[in-house]
Amino acid sequence: MLLSAFLTGKLNEIKPFIDSGGIQRFPIIENLLGASPADIKPLINRLTTERVLLKKPYQRVMCCPHCEDSSNVFVRHLCPICRSNDLTVEKTIRHLACGNEVRINASTSVEKALCEKCLTPIVSDGDYTFLGTTLFCNDCGAVNVEIIQTYFCSVCDSEFSLSNATYLDMYSYKLNKRLIPEIQQHIILPLLMKVLSDTGFMVQTPGYFIGASGSTYNFSLIASRGETMVAFDIVQSDRKIGVQSILPTIFKLAEQRSIQAFLIAIPELDTEAKESAEAGGIICVEGTVSDILANGAKKICSYMTKLKHLNGRIRVRR
Ligand SMILES: [Zn+2]
Ligand SMILES: [Zn+2]
Ligand SMILES: [Zn+2]
Repeated sequence: MLLSAFLTGKLNEIKPFIDSGGIQRFPIIENLLGASPADIKPLINRLTTERVLLKKPYQRVMCCPHCEDSSNVFVRHLCPICRSNDLTVEKTIRHLACGNEVRINASTSVEKALCEKCLTPIVSDGDYTFLGTTLFCNDCGAVNVEIIQTYFCSVCDSEFSLSNATYLDMYSYKLNKRLIPEIQQHIILPLLMKVLSDTGFMVQTPGYFIGASGSTYNFSLIASRGETMVAFDIVQSDRKIGVQSILPTIFKLAEQRSIQAFLIAIPELDTEAKESAEAGGIICVEGTVSDILANGAKKICSYMTKLKHLNGRIRVRR
């Protein structure tokens, strides 16, 4: 399901997310598979080890070195003299009308200040010039101090500095594009197997038969129901498929006339290949992977109900 979501374009990248409990999760996959976070982690690890998914650094999250939680880490500013965090940041402005320097709390808007010398409200940008910011420690009275930045974890109530913080490296995951043809086969074959066994066929994958010459041939899948035998090959390319790619299928059929062959062609055959396949009695099902995943089963089912024997060879009733 995960891989077909990638192949059909429903999913492009798996991005991590840290939930309120500090757990790394992948909500896209949880929704797609209806799986729990505990099941998803090993799945992603395994697909990454097998290089089906490729990982890329996504984000580095600071964690508390004591409890390793990242969900409640806050920045703390401290006075370098008494280490109090009761600090007031003040802005200093000059009131242009009287030249007075006015200090206001950083959290108050300048436009709400009053000049204490001339008792005029400062209402607009044009009334003052900005001189600077000052820091004031409300505990020891230190002014204009260089603050110390530390971090505080409210999960375990501990303080730590940048130098002893630990980090959680988070990754995002994408499908390894080189494996697309292989993955397509692995997704389309199970779909075929299901359609065929639902319609009463015994399925073998890959399927083998011994030809008239005594040589063994194989198809991606062979299925039989009573006297009816069907075989499937899958061919794929990034452009139209030429006749060269379907010759092996045509050749195998020359050795076994009573088998009905299907060719799943992704994305499509060129005219010559299509004509050759049809002349060889092969039924072609063309389409992109998403077409085949979406409509292929229905198409193949409808062929299965129309199959009948004709002179030792199966024919689809038109
Ligand atoms: Zn902690
Ligand atoms: Zn004034
Ligand atoms: Zn202080």
